[in-house]
Amino acid sequence: MARYTRSSCRVCRRRGLKLFLKGTRCYTDKCAFDRRSYPPGQHGKGGKGRRTKISNYGLQLKEKQKVKKIYGVLEKQFRRYFKLATHSKGVTGERLLELLERRLDSVIFRSCFAVSRTQARQMVSHGAILVNNRKVNIPSYSIKIGDVIQVKQKDRIVKNVKEIIENVKDRGVPDWLKPDFTSLKIEVARRPERKDVGMDIQEQLIVELYSK
Ligand code: SF4
Repeated sequence: MARYTRSSCRVCRRRGLKLFLKGTRCYTDKCAFDRRSYPPGQHGKGGKGRRTKISNYGLQLKEKQKVKKIYGVLEKQFRRYFKLATHSKGVTGERLLELLERRLDSVIFRSCFAVSRTQARQMVSHGAILVNNRKVNIPSYSIKIGDVIQVKQKDRIVKNVKEIIENVKDRGVPDWLKPDFTSLKIEVARRPERKDVGMDIQEQLIVELYSK
């Protein structure tokens, strides 16, 4: 599978906000964005105001790239999500975010079972996750209301996940997910709503971009 290979912290600095792509490091004073909140490269700090003149198209493009990076989705798959969102009832931008939030790797991350979505994706593709008692190794698997997600009961995996939870549980879990930090299960109580996304995303810009 194709992957982004540029430094995650450069992406945060380029986008001008924290995208929380590196797990626990993002919550410490080692965060590169907190230390250097200007764009990377020679035009970054003290550059000639490259950020000041940005067209509407540029803004739309930036927003799309930001969301793709947050969820670790490449263009082809992102377009597929957008198409699905346009064909479903409701506000297209909100439906797009709902589809992204319902990805299995995102659910693992939002439930504090992984430090980052990248780590959650690895856990899924390495077979450490069961959905309704069946192994699912597809990170993009779309979870539904009533699904029960569980960490495979192998000593090494259980120990690792419990350590991760101890480190990251303070970041909180959206209430559409009901994780049990003892049995390492997650119940899906309802569909995620816009308010559950909890990130500074202007999804309308993405809708405008793809509607041209
Ligand atoms: Fe972004 Fe900071 Fe995390 Fe790096 S450490 S990915 S700059 S939030």
